[in-house]
Amino acid sequence: MQLYEKQSIKIYNSLTGTKETFKPINEGHVGMYVCGPTVYSNVHLGNVRTFMSFDVIFRYLKHLGYKVRYVRNITDAGHLENDADVGEDRIAKKARLEQIEPMEVVQRYTVDFHNILNTFNFLPPSIEPTATGHIIEQIELIKTIIDNGFAYEVNGSVYFDVHKFNETHDYGKLSKRKLEDLIHNTRELDGQSDKKNPQDFALWKRAEPQHIMRWPSPWSDGFPGWHLECTAMSTKYLGEHFDIHGGGMDLKFPHHECEIAQNEAAKGQTPVNYWMHANMLIMNGKKMAKSTGNYILPNEIFTGDNKNITKAFAPSVARFFMLQAHYRSILDFTNDGLLASEKGFYRLMDAINLLKDLKASEKSSLDINTWKQKCYDAMNDDFNSPILIAHLFEAVKYINQIKEGSESLNAEDLATLKSTINAFVFDILGLENETSANETGTDKLSGAVDLLIKLRQEARANKDFALSDKIRDELAEVGIQLKDGKDGTTFSVN
Ligand SMILES: [Zn+2]
Repeated sequence: MQLYEKQSIKIYNSLTGTKETFKPINEGHVGMYVCGPTVYSNVHLGNVRTFMSFDVIFRYLKHLGYKVRYVRNITDAGHLENDADVGEDRIAKKARLEQIEPMEVVQRYTVDFHNILNTFNFLPPSIEPTATGHIIEQIELIKTIIDNGFAYEVNGSVYFDVHKFNETHDYGKLSKRKLEDLIHNTRELDGQSDKKNPQDFALWKRAEPQHIMRWPSPWSDGFPGWHLECTAMSTKYLGEHFDIHGGGMDLKFPHHECEIAQNEAAKGQTPVNYWMHANMLIMNGKKMAKSTGNYILPNEIFTGDNKNITKAFAPSVARFFMLQAHYRSILDFTNDGLLASEKGFYRLMDAINLLKDLKASEKSSLDINTWKQKCYDAMNDDFNSPILIAHLFEAVKYINQIKEGSESLNAEDLATLKSTINAFVFDILGLENETSANETGTDKLSGAVDLLIKLRQEARANKDFALSDKIRDELAEVGIQLKDGKDGTTFSVN
């Protein structure tokens, strides 16, 4: 029997606005698609937060015994600067500014993206397809949408006919928008005269002569519209109808709305059962913006090299901090928040390190199975990681009480406590035991300094005071103070 037969998950579905009991289309299997990054700059911390939410969801589904196919794409073409299908392709623009090939831009920032996610201990998705690797599939999809009467060609570009679609379908059902309101609120932008209506969106854009990212198609040498790649790649790998589609809240409209429209127009059915959206990350109560300095690159959290934080934080501390907020809540990234999480994280790790040496008693005074089910209940309730973490701190209390002898567990319950903590902390939340790594580092440092202290003693015994002072002074320069006392020399690290 698989765990998922006992543990029933409820997922908040953005499409219906309610929490629904999760039932996969094929029993025991889950297909999940998450919109990946546009690789034209360093990955934004807000995106890291979104992908972390889905990393934990992926990990939990796997833990329950589901066979999960998790597809997260790389957008390496077609994402224009402006949602209204105007402006330059983001990657082509970066390539022009830096005078390098677009694929060099893509390579550089894909590597950066993977490095950051590895540092945060993400599991890789099952498939990571790219937009440029699926041009043929996108062209085929456009042909079908044209054949079905929901798209039209003008001057080599192809646009989705939102008004025509809305006559028989519901455009705006995900973002709860009405076409009439959209019409009312859209201002006509220059250079959009090709479209029948400003609400229409590009499926294919004819490339201007200077545009270097271009592919041949039946309509023109050009490139696909951004929304199209996700429809092409999700349905190619997960089928025309799959379980979960996720992404950041900002993608709900127009990106995901357009994905639904494309799928319904091409395949005649709605693509996804559960739409999930991770909320925003802000910093110091405000939107992050490079221009105001209220901004941090993910990497700067680990180096401490940013004026918004007072020190460097371990990747697992930052991960723990982010998971202390539910994925549908806004997360406010602050130095104080990180410092508090750091304390909590090391308290949790200290308890886990104690757990190894706890001795079983004859009888249990704590109800570990009830506690264990509470951990599952938290995750079953729309992946509520902050509630789960509260239960993990309940276990920290148990561990300390058992250590002091005020509570006890029998061998079976102690084994349950250990396996449950390991599963939730390391497999599901994806944290790493940083204390043990730090301790190893500290042990090695002590060994090396002890050796230098011994060499200094030998130098003094040989009256080589130049050498003994050199050892003391140069250690002081790197922040290690030697102190000579009655019982020999000790050291402290500043
Ligand atoms: Zn997408």
